[in-house]
Amino acid sequence: MNVRDLMRRPGDHREWSRDIAQPEGFGNAVIGVREGATVHLDVRLESLHEGILASVDAETVAEGECVRCLDPVTLPVEVEIQELFAYTEDEAFDYTVADESVDLEPMVRDAVAMSLPFQPVCRPDCPGLDPETGERLADHPDRAPREVLDPRWAALEGFRSAEEPRS
Ligand SMILES: [Zn+2]
Repeated sequence: MNVRDLMRRPGDHREWSRDIAQPEGFGNAVIGVREGATVHLDVRLESLHEGILASVDAETVAEGECVRCLDPVTLPVEVEIQELFAYTEDEAFDYTVADESVDLEPMVRDAVAMSLPFQPVCRPDCPGLDPETGERLADHPDRAPREVLDPRWAALEGFRSAEEPRS
């Protein structure tokens, strides 16, 4: 994004909206934004004394799988980001204006990646898989809800049987 028209002109600003294709996929182990996914950007660039203030609304869709039943999950993602692109290298700011341009892509990518869940689920009450057969419990509502023995009680069960008199 060339910002020559805004540089050293505090108070000037420019706004634009655009759909871009995500140049490379990113995300965590279970969910991410695919390469080529559409990212809608609403951008406001504002000239300040120390640099260019970028305010970005980014909307896209992340894809992954439910951590409980392994079904595909499609998750709309929306982030609002505001970062200063400083004119000079400065520890206080993560980004700088380089070649009279601001590169919004790393900023948007980082913010979207941070917003992704580490445990995506297909729906909040997804019952997951049958621990014995591996089938999706959502397909077998007769089996869910299954009583899952609390491991602390399971330990007591073992304790009790150990106390039974031997014959
Ligand atoms: Zn699920």
